[in-house]
Amino acid sequence: EKNDDVGGTWYENTYPGCRVDVPNHFYSYSCAQRDDWPSVFSTQQVLLDYFRSVADEFGLRESIRFETEVTEAVFDEETCQWTLALRTADGGRETLEANAIVCGVGQLNRPVLPDIPGRDDFEGPSFHSARWDDRVELRGKRVAIIGTGASAAQFIPPVADMASELFVFQRTPPWILPTPDNRSEVPEGQQFLMRHVPWFAQWYRFWLFWTMSEGLLPMARVEDGWPHPERSVGEGNEQIRNVFLEVLRAQCAGDDELYRKLAPDYPPLSKRFVRDDGLLVRTLGRDDVDLVTDPIERITPTGLRTKSGRDVDVDVIVYGTGFSASKFLVPMKVVGRGGRDLHQHWAGDARAYLGITVPHFPNLFLMYGPNTNIVVNGSIIYFSECEANYIVDCIRELLESGRRALDCKPAVHDAYNRRIDAENLRMAWGAATVNTWYRNEKGRISQNWPSTLLAYWQQTRAVDPADYEWL
Ligand code: NAP
Repeated sequence: EKNDDVGGTWYENTYPGCRVDVPNHFYSYSCAQRDDWPSVFSTQQVLLDYFRSVADEFGLRESIRFETEVTEAVFDEETCQWTLALRTADGGRETLEANAIVCGVGQLNRPVLPDIPGRDDFEGPSFHSARWDDRVELRGKRVAIIGTGASAAQFIPPVADMASELFVFQRTPPWILPTPDNRSEVPEGQQFLMRHVPWFAQWYRFWLFWTMSEGLLPMARVEDGWPHPERSVGEGNEQIRNVFLEVLRAQCAGDDELYRKLAPDYPPLSKRFVRDDGLLVRTLGRDDVDLVTDPIERITPTGLRTKSGRDVDVDVIVYGTGFSASKFLVPMKVVGRGGRDLHQHWAGDARAYLGITVPHFPNLFLMYGPNTNIVVNGSIIYFSECEANYIVDCIRELLESGRRALDCKPAVHDAYNRRIDAENLRMAWGAATVNTWYRNEKGRISQNWPSTLLAYWQQTRAVDPADYEWL
């Protein structure tokens, strides 16, 4: 673990307003359920405390080497062992031998600063949302926020409350999923039911899973012959488009210009939506908040210049510009059988079987690997549990069979990926042409799982030995 504590996303993202956008009773480990989540969508600190407490409860800390970065992993075909090069907290170098690697480095933790001309010329402080700099005073300052994705949508309201003036630079309006309880506490009555009524908590978790995740998925399916694919991909998609726009119009409260700026012109669910209870739209409509849709031409020493020649002078720039999600495992160097370098092998188009194993890289197991992200909803914790289950089954099979390593058969991997690619094209995020972090530099949807959560669970319940070459 490169950081000095557990928590990952919830350790690194400390921006104001940060909270999970999946209800917590679902976004939590099945083996570490809580009946006392304070909010429907918990805040970053509550989540960080949760992950810390899980690490303590299960005695994981003693197995974790903190502040230790894996820089390289090389497979030895003779011994079927991996040799890992480590960089430790004091900058020292070490190596470690391992029979297998389970890689849980995440997708959304390498911040991207946009390639805007003049970015380094800005003379004031600037930082990325995932590297929030508390030392920079925002109170009473003129602040620019670049981006209106899921992160920015959460910190725009609190920053607006601090800044004297806020300028939000929006390239593409996000779809806003109306979520009245986005910032709500779990009602006392529900807390009572969770604690005292047998199976209520389990039922609630299942209900969330079924209605939200599996229930929303059909709305993202492409319908053949749908007449206006530029605005929706099918009837269900068109229906939620209409509902979302209706709520947005009501939230804009007669401000037609705001509505015009915020109404997306691409199908809903083709890009990650942002949740809002109305606060975001109200904030963007404030007199001291300027939603700038004129594209940024360059960054100047004193602020930003737009394409139409408007100069916006600011004291601070905050980048809510996302992550290099499709560069899986970067910057680690990984060398498999025959001296194959993983990044050269992938050539910018990372793929894996079930998102977990890659041919020619035996006993390398990925968690949250290619095509294991979900758009519509669901919980990445659910996916990680499926992956962990499958990986443990692989290792069990290795131990029981007396084999040293397993290597995914290229034909199995390729057929799986053809299927995933075809299925993703049948979904809003694959069919729409809007810019998203789901698509890699080759234009392929490399992040998303195209099907139900149930299907992923079924496919990862047990390893099929026929899928692998056993070494
Ligand atoms: P993101 O979704 O990639 O959003 C980046 C934003 O920056 C977009 O609005 C993008 O515009 C804009 N942008 C990028 N380059 C730009 C440029 N050169 N000029 C102007 N605008 C530019 O990143 P994110 O908001 O950090 O979210 C990433 C993912 O993390 C989310 O999709 C979600 O899965 C996850 N997340 C989850 C939570 C949660 O659970 N609560 C919170 C935050 C994030 P375009 O849309 O035009 O590209």
